[in-house]
Amino acid sequence: MSQKVSVGVIGATGMVGQNYIRLLNQHPWFEVTYAAASPRSAGKRYKDAVAGRWHMATDIPQEAADLVVEDASDIGRAEGRCSVVFSAVDMEKGAVRKLEMDYAARGFAVVSNNSAHRMTEDVPILIPEINPDHCDIIPAQRKHHGWSKGVIVVKPNCSIQSYMIPLHALMQRRYRIEKMIVTTLQGLSGAGYPGPAALDIVDNIVPYIGGEEEKSEKEPGKVFGRIEGGRIVSDDSMAVSAHCTRVPVIDGHSACMNIRFQGTKPSLEEIRAVWESYRSLPQELNLPTAPSRPIIYRDEADRPQPRKDRDAENGMAVTVGRLRPCNVFDCRFVGLSHNTVRGAAGGAVLMAELLKAKGYIGS
Ligand code: NAP
Repeated sequence: MSQKVSVGVIGATGMVGQNYIRLLNQHPWFEVTYAAASPRSAGKRYKDAVAGRWHMATDIPQEAADLVVEDASDIGRAEGRCSVVFSAVDMEKGAVRKLEMDYAARGFAVVSNNSAHRMTEDVPILIPEINPDHCDIIPAQRKHHGWSKGVIVVKPNCSIQSYMIPLHALMQRRYRIEKMIVTTLQGLSGAGYPGPAALDIVDNIVPYIGGEEEKSEKEPGKVFGRIEGGRIVSDDSMAVSAHCTRVPVIDGHSACMNIRFQGTKPSLEEIRAVWESYRSLPQELNLPTAPSRPIIYRDEADRPQPRKDRDAENGMAVTVGRLRPCNVFDCRFVGLSHNTVRGAAGGAVLMAELLKAKGYIGS
């Protein structure tokens, strides 16, 4: 009998859902036994539900191809088939909040890509390298809701992954960041399929992504926050100003960063050394999806570039470059990460691995 943890994907037919199906194929700890989406896909075999819209460069994995897609709201169909669901549904926020709560209330561990629960006080926004200790909120979350096994954990916005780990590496060495200006250049796949119309984005840049700047300014504080009285209290000491733009790149979110430190300022050489030696709990625990080098520094003057760097460490590394002094703040650099891997499905699989390593799922 398989010793793997049975998992499901809700929103399995979408851009992020397909990445889950791809990344979970042959996973050493997890096995996909349940796929769900909207009533439009329900009742079809997975391979038929995604026919003509399978966007991955590899074929549909055999373990998923013949699964019958269920209606995600019919939670009874998941019972007895899996204990963890990865949530990648694209629905109105209130409906997502309710759906994820309903799964957790029925005993499922919900690992979500959606923003619906990011500001829920007892739901951690996890980046496993940065705040694995925020898993410690789970007993309080279960107590608040009367859940014995259910849990909800969420991933942050895909664009902030391109710079949060490099910032954390510096904060871990006791450097404090007073303020930063972030300008993102975000790939098209971040908008889901089919994304913006070609006539809106080819030969163009769109300087607005609804809700993205607010998320970029708010979520870092919660990720860097602390648990207090059964809730997560944000660390609002760092001021963030964000511009978020959509660019004609398929995959990969870049971020141009300007940073000002508070108190002691590291030299550029120190920053570089801190990044290159950075390792954290996922690397210590040797989690299957953890990149061995979470931060890769590129020396070339014209890197990182989405096409050349997004797949570093299977899409799980953050690539940084162009570290130099800033004439207004202290330093500036460019960060890049793969938005549908580190920024979405890969980051969430790593979260589930962390939950398993900590004994919150699969036991
Ligand atoms: P997408 O390609 O549009 O896929 C949406 C998925 O949601 C499909 O599986 C769709 O099923 C399902 N769905 C839609 N309405 C539903 C309903 N009423 N009930 C159940 N399922 C329903 O979107 P995506 O890009 O994968 O994004 C999914 C979520 O992840 C969004 O919340 C998004 O903000 C977030 N996210 C995306 C990225 C990224 O880089 N793309 C990164 C981080 C987070 P059908 O195929 O049956 O319609």
